[in-house]
Amino acid sequence: MEINDDLRRDYGLGNSSKPTGKPKVVAKAGTICPYCLSDTTFIIEVEVDNGYLIGGKGIGVYVGCAACPWASPMLSYSTGDRPGSAGDETPQKVPSGGAVPRTD
Ligand SMILES: [Zn+2]
Repeated sequence: MEINDDLRRDYGLGNSSKPTGKPKVVAKAGTICPYCLSDTTFIIEVEVDNGYLIGGKGIGVYVGCAACPWASPMLSYSTGDRPGSAGDETPQKVPSGGAVPRTD
């Protein structure tokens, strides 16, 4: 296995989410940048498109450094509607084997 000592960006290939909005700082991350050791890291959110998300769109969340180009891999979650569910407020059934409510 080849070791890459450049920690700035060596991930996010292939099926990555595509940012469609402006990245927005939502909080200080409270961590130290693994590349430049600065404590100026922030949690950043951005609207994204990705065919793997339900409805094809969502929010991507990652940690970025203000002092250098380093950023963490992005985690994306869906904000889109399931196909055919627009306006349908019927709760989803829990599949068998799912959580069972306590009765005591
Ligand atoms: Zn940094």
